[in-house]
Amino acid sequence: MYNTTVEKINGEKHLETIDIKSSGITKNLKIDGLFESIGMDAETELVDNLLVKNDCNYIISDDCTTNIDGIFVAGDCRTKNVRQLTTATSDGTITAYLVIDYLKTKNNKS
Ligand SMILES: Cc1cc2nc3c(=O)[nH]c(=O)nc-3n(C[C@H](O)[C@H](O)[C@H](O)COP(=O)(O)OP(=O)(O)OC[C@H]3O[C@@H](n4cnc5c(N)ncnc54)[C@H](O)[C@@H]3O)c2cc1C
Repeated sequence: MYNTTVEKINGEKHLETIDIKSSGITKNLKIDGLFESIGMDAETELVDNLLVKNDCNYIISDDCTTNIDGIFVAGDCRTKNVRQLTTATSDGTITAYLVIDYLKTKNNKS
């Protein structure tokens, strides 16, 4: 269902029905379960005023690098199209290699 809002959750001892509203019309729907999604907002306060983020607080990164050299980002907290376990672990692997390369470069310079 698109463009539909849940107006009310009904039931005595357990969930029985919900009132939904779509295009100004309210309907009562019998259901057994409800999974409510309240939106997404990344908890990235740790790097406030350090890393560049978007409006939903995701750290802006297409490739696990950030706006600061030597700080990398992996997983759901970065901007990306797909947030799943497989993409998070993939980010972890990429980030590990980026760190190794970064440290090698630093060591060669000193
Ligand atoms: C309801 C739901 C269902 C999902 N179902 C699926 C599914 O079926 N299949 C699938 O592949 N993916 C699913 N996902 C997505 C998947 O869970 C995520 O993509 C994945 O967990 C991201 O891993 P992550 O390590 O980036 O973040 P997270 O798993 O969120 O881990 C981040 C960790 O960092 C900790 N943390 C946060 N701030 C701090 C701090 N300041 N200091 C220390 N620790 C901190 C948090 O407590 C948390 O433990 C689902 C997500 C949700 C919300």
